[in-house]
Amino acid sequence: MRDVVELLRTLVSISSVSRESNRGVIEFAESVLAEAGWSFQEHGYLDPAGVEKINLIAWPGKVARRDGAFHLVLVCHTDTVPYRADWADATTLVEDGDDLKGCGACDVKGYLACILAVATQLDHAGLSKPIGIILTADEEIGCVGASYLVDQKIVSARYAIVGEPTSLRPVRAGKGYCLAEVIVSGCEAHSAFPDKGRSAIYDAARLIVEIEKIAAQLKELPAAGFSPPWTTINIGEIHGGLAKNIVAPSCRFLLEWRPVAGQDPKLVASMVESAIAALVAADPSYQCELKVLRMQEGFAVEDSSLVLQSVLRASGNEADSVAFGTEAPWLNKLGAEAVVFGPGSMLSAHSLREFVRRKELIRCVEILGGVIQDLCS
Ligand SMILES: [Zn+2]
Repeated sequence: MRDVVELLRTLVSISSVSRESNRGVIEFAESVLAEAGWSFQEHGYLDPAGVEKINLIAWPGKVARRDGAFHLVLVCHTDTVPYRADWADATTLVEDGDDLKGCGACDVKGYLACILAVATQLDHAGLSKPIGIILTADEEIGCVGASYLVDQKIVSARYAIVGEPTSLRPVRAGKGYCLAEVIVSGCEAHSAFPDKGRSAIYDAARLIVEIEKIAAQLKELPAAGFSPPWTTINIGEIHGGLAKNIVAPSCRFLLEWRPVAGQDPKLVASMVESAIAALVAADPSYQCELKVLRMQEGFAVEDSSLVLQSVLRASGNEADSVAFGTEAPWLNKLGAEAVVFGPGSMLSAHSLREFVRRKELIRCVEILGGVIQDLCS
């Protein structure tokens, strides 16, 4: 049986920012799994920059699995967000009392260490239903690895536990994540003669007022179990204009929305398209384009789902929902009822304060072991 903290120490030491290859993390996982008598298959691809990315599917025993169908899969992404150049200890696990600090310690190498530790202590001969591990690439840049598995129809599963930092609370529902770039075009002119041009900034502002109204309308479509219990919208960036004395020829902004589970993620895009169409109808020279960059739906499992019930029982914690994107919708596409679960809190992730507690790692290993016995015996 491998020590979960030592596994985490090695995982943190192998940098796996999304722009880099994740081969180092995958090969370390393979070495741990092979020693524990597991078999695995790599499913690799080249990302748009030509960098090798690998998804790994693993199962206990030396039997070649031909059908790729599992009863339960433990799913974990292997990439991290970039870390600041001045974070000298980013790839060193620093122990501060019970806190274990480092890039990826909580998002999500903590859970990765836990599933590897579980694999090394599992008595798989006693299991009657197939258990598997799926490690993915490129989650942080849009679940690209998970989407590859879905497109290639490589694997399917009945139940999934997807790792993300949830403070060991089983997450039964999550909002989706969608992003669009809105580009408004005008016509430049000397600012002393505004009628000779058309301000893209004024035109963008007209649309933004309509988007704020859409945000208010979305509150009328509540979905229980989320905080806040509706689809939210954010315009987080806006860029426009050339200089103080030029009528702005263009303005672009980023529009993000997080749809509640069960709502078509395209709903907000179509509401904004309608608002644009109304502005064009009122003034045919109004020019605006909406380019969707991300479109990921939410997810939810039924309260009666066996995987949710099992993680609730084993953890003793109450169910929760999250407002951040996860790979759970992709696991739904692979046929699985998915719960998101893991040690650490997203409040420290994606920052140089990132940490996970030693006692949560140890508890997570116990909980996963219990759930595997419960669902796969
Ligand atoms: Zn994550």
